[in-house]
Amino acid sequence: MINLDDALNMVLSSAKILSSETVSLPLALGRVLAQDVISPFDVPSRDVSSMDGFACRAGQAGKIFKIVGEVQAGEIFSGKINEGEAVRIMTGGVIPNGAEYVIKVEEIIDKGADIIEILCESGLGDYIRKQGEETAKGERVLRKGTTINPEMLGLLARLGFEKIEVYFRPKVAILSTGNEVVNLGQPLGAGQIYDANFYVLAGLVKECGCEVQSLGLEKDDLGRIKGKIKAGQSADLLMITGGVSAGKYDFVRQACEELSADIVFHKVAQRPGMPILFGRINQMPIFGLPGNPVSAVIAFENLVKPLLMKMQGTEFCPQVFEAILEKDLVKEKKIRCFIRAMTEWKDGGFRTVPYEKQSSGVLRSCVESNSLIILSEELTVLKVGDPVKFRFTK
Ligand code: AMP
Ligand code: MG
Repeated sequence: MINLDDALNMVLSSAKILSSETVSLPLALGRVLAQDVISPFDVPSRDVSSMDGFACRAGQAGKIFKIVGEVQAGEIFSGKINEGEAVRIMTGGVIPNGAEYVIKVEEIIDKGADIIEILCESGLGDYIRKQGEETAKGERVLRKGTTINPEMLGLLARLGFEKIEVYFRPKVAILSTGNEVVNLGQPLGAGQIYDANFYVLAGLVKECGCEVQSLGLEKDDLGRIKGKIKAGQSADLLMITGGVSAGKYDFVRQACEELSADIVFHKVAQRPGMPILFGRINQMPIFGLPGNPVSAVIAFENLVKPLLMKMQGTEFCPQVFEAILEKDLVKEKKIRCFIRAMTEWKDGGFRTVPYEKQSSGVLRSCVESNSLIILSEELTVLKVGDPVKFRFTK
């Protein structure tokens, strides 16, 4: 059995980054940039006002100005401002030549007949957004490998990008196996369970920006599982749940081997998620994930997600924080454990309460927690008040 760090290195070292395509801006959300984004021009393109008010040349509190013109947003004032003169300006209006600052409309008294009196002290450059203040022409504003979020979409629009180059989304084929597993819509017989794994894994795959190909559900039958693996070979990655442990009817490894798969590892020192298989069939990565839903989720997060992100030209490295443990824990040595927990900020620090039922069959433990406590291989006994590492899952 190998440790999780070695397993992850083996998974990532063989990763192939997919090629890229150009998509229109609205379709770029959640995709990974395959190009650096360089600002083609200054933003703002000129010095503009950040307030509705008056652009002035010079003045002190109590000073009287004459209004000599008006600039609406997007307009340019063609005249010049002399000493003692001001131009009415709207937010976004280009600052007239010679103006040095803007006085907010709330800070003047309108004396009538185009005369205003200024009530405040003001300094050079007040309420002026300088040309190129947000992005200067030629500046790199987004890096290749960045996952595009809504704010970035807005920034790209600001810079005039109608299209953008992004990495292809990996297509992920998912197969559920198990004689006892039943599709939704079918009546449940004694001892049977519905296929939860497909839904949770398909959701996780989509959250990684990938496409899902469903291979459906298959019995614990060597020949039939082989048939489904062959059907999944047009995908970029294949995941199979169930049938990957040491049971008499666990056929996933044998099915892979009979299809000439190169098995890289089978079993990783993590809990949940120990019986996990990773290999390749004709270059396509293939994962056999445990049938227990929590094990499948943790195995996915630890080993599949990093690969899917790398195939899209980016990385998955969740931030790890420290919290104070609020319940005693005991664990086995040499295994890295992932404890579902509710972690909150209380009294100046994070405090974490492990979910009561840590069985890998209890999917509710994932639903009713917001974090994973990460217990390293060498730890065995943990007491209330001990500091522990954790990461948020939501
Ligand atoms: P296995 O990995 O095949 O030994 O399955 C381990 C446990 O996970 C068993 O209790 C199965 O019933 C359960 N299981 C297997 N596949 C699924 C699935 N698709 N959805 C929910 N539970 C499953
Ligand atoms: Mg099974």
